[in-house]
Amino acid sequence: MNIKNNIQNIIQNLSPGCKLIAVSKNNPIEKIKEAHDSGQIRFGENKVQELVPKYEALSKDIEWHMIGHLQSNKVKFIAPFISLIHSIDSLKLLEEVNKQALKVNRIIPCLLQVHIAEEETKFGFSNDELKAAFDSTDFGRLNNVRIVGLMGMATTTSDTEQIKREFSGLKGIFDNLRSIRLPDHVSMVELSMGMSSDYSLAVACGSTMIRVGSAIFGERS
Ligand SMILES: *Cc1c(COP(=O)(O)O)cnc(C)c1O
Repeated sequence: MNIKNNIQNIIQNLSPGCKLIAVSKNNPIEKIKEAHDSGQIRFGENKVQELVPKYEALSKDIEWHMIGHLQSNKVKFIAPFISLIHSIDSLKLLEEVNKQALKVNRIIPCLLQVHIAEEETKFGFSNDELKAAFDSTDFGRLNNVRIVGLMGMATTTSDTEQIKREFSGLKGIFDNLRSIRLPDHVSMVELSMGMSSDYSLAVACGSTMIRVGSAIFGERS
């Protein structure tokens, strides 16, 4: 498993506007260093207790992305350094991120996670909940967060038509939001979709950020 080659192969096929988030969860510091040495600066983790020690141990020019379900009581541990939280799945969580960002005098960029998969287990807003959130919430009051886009995960299936439908559906929601007047502190710039098994489809459907783990670091133990 050659981490550097894997990264290069993935980047080669990306459109210029699309960024690679290397998902380093369950992988040791040494492997992240290897990826970082080959020029990769954006890394994604899904657990706070794994993210914080990695942040502390590694180069401070790394951009850390929180991609997994985030509990409100853990936000304070990542607020000082996190670059982007992809997984805002409730307004309560967004309020907590705002509160903790204020304490450390930061403005934290966030994505709203949208539930696009058939599986019940995946977190996120439904399209209706998203609309309701935009109608009901005074985002302009949340001075220490910026919503900069959406994130979604497709169903785990080998049915590529279904995956395409789900990604296209999310792109449609994203484009629709781009076409209307958005509340203060909300903009639609980033569309985070695509993992090792489906990132080519996601890129074809307009992804601006792919989150790829095993295709870079190998199967996780
Ligand atoms: C683990 C994970 C990924 C990466 O998964 P791979 O299949 O290893 O590429 C992407 N997004 C989220 C939210 C994850 O938890």
